[in-house]
Amino acid sequence: MSSDPNSIDVWEAFLDPQGTFSLPDFSAVTPASLVAGVRAATDFARSEVEDIIADENDPTFVTTTVRFESATIPMDRMSALVSAVEANHFRPELTEAVAEVRDRLSAAQTRTFLDVDLFHRIEQVPSTDLNPEDKRQQELTIEEFVRAGARLGEEERDQMSTIAAELTTLETSFSRALQKDTRDLAVQLTEPDQLAGLSEDQIAAAAGRAAERGTHGYLLPLNNFTQQLVLESLESTETRRQVLDNSTSRGTRGGEGDTRTQVADTTALRALQAKLLGFPSYSSFAIDNQTAGGPDAAADIVSSLIAPANAQLADELARVKERYGLDDVAPEDVKHHLAKYRQDEFGIDADEVAKYFEFDTVLYEGVFRAATGLYGITFAPREDVIGWHEDVRAFEVTDTNERTLGLVLLDPYSRDTKRGGAWVGQLVTSSRLTGHLPVLTLSLNLAKPGPGRPSLLGPTELTTLFHEFGHVLHGLFANSTYPSTAGTSVPRDYVEFPSQLNEMWRFHPQVLPHYAKHIDTGEPMPAELVTALIESEKFGQGFNTTEYLAAAMLDLSWHSLEAGEHITDVLSFESEVLDAAGFTSLVPPRYRTTYFGHIFASGYAAGYYSYLYSEVIAAWVSEWFEAQGGLSREAGDAFREAILAPGYSIDPMSAIERFFGTRPDVAPLLRRRGLAEPVEESEDSAEEEPTAPADELPEAEPKEHRNHAAVAEVLEAHGIEPQIKLFTDATPTAASAAAKIGVEVGAIANSLIFSSGGDPVLIMTSGLHRVDTGHVAGLIGADSLDRADKELVRTATGQVIGGVAPCGHPKPVPTYVDVALKDYPVLWAAAGTPNSMMPLTYEQLLAITGGKEITVVEEGVEG
Ligand SMILES: [Zn+2]
Repeated sequence: MSSDPNSIDVWEAFLDPQGTFSLPDFSAVTPASLVAGVRAATDFARSEVEDIIADENDPTFVTTTVRFESATIPMDRMSALVSAVEANHFRPELTEAVAEVRDRLSAAQTRTFLDVDLFHRIEQVPSTDLNPEDKRQQELTIEEFVRAGARLGEEERDQMSTIAAELTTLETSFSRALQKDTRDLAVQLTEPDQLAGLSEDQIAAAAGRAAERGTHGYLLPLNNFTQQLVLESLESTETRRQVLDNSTSRGTRGGEGDTRTQVADTTALRALQAKLLGFPSYSSFAIDNQTAGGPDAAADIVSSLIAPANAQLADELARVKERYGLDDVAPEDVKHHLAKYRQDEFGIDADEVAKYFEFDTVLYEGVFRAATGLYGITFAPREDVIGWHEDVRAFEVTDTNERTLGLVLLDPYSRDTKRGGAWVGQLVTSSRLTGHLPVLTLSLNLAKPGPGRPSLLGPTELTTLFHEFGHVLHGLFANSTYPSTAGTSVPRDYVEFPSQLNEMWRFHPQVLPHYAKHIDTGEPMPAELVTALIESEKFGQGFNTTEYLAAAMLDLSWHSLEAGEHITDVLSFESEVLDAAGFTSLVPPRYRTTYFGHIFASGYAAGYYSYLYSEVIAAWVSEWFEAQGGLSREAGDAFREAILAPGYSIDPMSAIERFFGTRPDVAPLLRRRGLAEPVEESEDSAEEEPTAPADELPEAEPKEHRNHAAVAEVLEAHGIEPQIKLFTDATPTAASAAAKIGVEVGAIANSLIFSSGGDPVLIMTSGLHRVDTGHVAGLIGADSLDRADKELVRTATGQVIGGVAPCGHPKPVPTYVDVALKDYPVLWAAAGTPNSMMPLTYEQLLAITGGKEITVVEEGVEG
């Protein structure tokens, strides 16, 4: 038996290279060939595993771990192929074959990773002499076995294997039901009046979709998410209600399209799976190997933004109501009114704006051009490459050294055989082990224009295209030895960072003028319109953030169940979670449970928070690019090499830290979403004054102060952009500051001045701690330590008690920093006056104070 995965039958059958690429022959995809292909792939893996186990020589990295990696490549290739066909062009005749392929792959996967003989061979591989990448590969391989259950007893392993098979069946059945219900719930309309507000092209597309299904009138297919794009422009309240009702009722109507049983069973089984592996819940298991490290960190960032997002949403709605003299806004009208406000307030006419975003021009002169500017790569159409559908377009990508870098298959249009949403797939993963060039697929759901008509993008679709292309770049630049760590094979809460970063280029002054040209006149978008568009995009972030957070909270809650819990009343559980977290029923989650394909069919279980988590990194890195002068080859090349190319072959956050010299902080994200302003009222007082619009509240203007300038100067000297927040009243205690900002008390960094024999000492202390002066005096070698009096504070810092900042003092004060502050991604410290605060990371705090890390209380005695 050959151990070269390139030589097996499955390749000859139909993973046959098209030209220079190891691209499947899609015309050979039939039910029979899919099943034959998966059999060949799984048989190959099994026979390789048996050979590895039977090998009488001592196991080495190459003969065991690398051979095992090779053994699974054909299965991964089959899995990628089936995913591409299933998601992009799923025909009824493939139903059984696809289900069989999935079941066989899942069974083979489970059997392999629960094979204790194989695991023992791999565990015995000596790793001391390996290079760093190989050593990491060895560790990751072992981790994958352990997470699959390879260390469990025989009975538990049997249970794991049964559960895995059931979960695969449930995922497939969730997807099928959802696809069916989404199709069935496309909104059927008979009269043109009902579509008033849509553009001619949109109406023509709706007529085309009806004709495609052999019905009369118009058909509005549903997008993946709750708030349908057409809600913005539809003028009829009645039609809007119908669209939103259809959207939110997906999966809840009984019959074949109902997904509630799958939700209940899946979440119960995942909880049981986690318990077998020694975790209290599925979210603990799933997030354990992610960047966040655990469900609490994920939940913290989600929870911490709910209040600011709600406040911003309330402000947006107040502005809408005032402008249009409305007493109330119904759920089906929220998105519509926000869009209308954007149009009226900022002069944004959606149809007019779309005329500047013609798909091909955006693609070539925007997306491709930005990538050329940053990374030097170029794109050429390949008409001879055949995709899974005639709409698929192929592009060969050439690197700076004129070598072919890879291939991109772009499938832009919506069709009944395609699932909703936009996504990127690694059809062929590039790696040095296989020598394969990467083949990436990029799928969108744009309305297909009528013959001879252009395809015009809305702002969301524009963002999506740039976003998805960020994933494509991550895959194209992959430079790993092993496919399992290549390109986008990074933790889920990290993988969205390169894509979200790529979004920033869409409005960048070095990019936008090249592609935003009027479809009729060719004129570039006027500067005023560009400004208005950018401004208008900031309006509605309260709404966007709220619906996202609600979905993220649902995901974390469904996966916080303990083994034995089986929630059959899915909709009640959902509303309880949302109510308890403080979400308004006016804005439903971006995905309700019953059509949350991310978490029940696409591997994002306990991972939907990832978008926000990644956005923290993306927003932060985007400011770095700005500081490098924007679109620069130098910055692009360095970023590509250090951050994108290694994939998971090195620890991603360590790579970030090495490259940027520090870890990301949340401030750029807050700025980007306009959430930086602290919430002014407590919830109680907000309820008492429901009628006063936020922008009319008579508040005293907070005062600027020279101390702030002194603090800002120190921050700037350390390359930190000062973000001093001023309040109208003082926040002298940690508790009052925490309440005002909406963070945990522990994240408040108190600047406390002590006297050591008359000399000032600054101790930066978590709001959770009281300094144990005896303990600290011992640590820092002081004879005694007492709280400083007012006079010493003033002379040492130039600031007053309650407003002391960590820096900006007349001369440096010896400083010690409570290590407990390290637990918080963002700290808040006073900025020189009692009514000011500023966000800092722990590393920034150390940098600006030159402080030494200490414990301020004795270990084990704190509460
Ligand atoms: Zn993405």
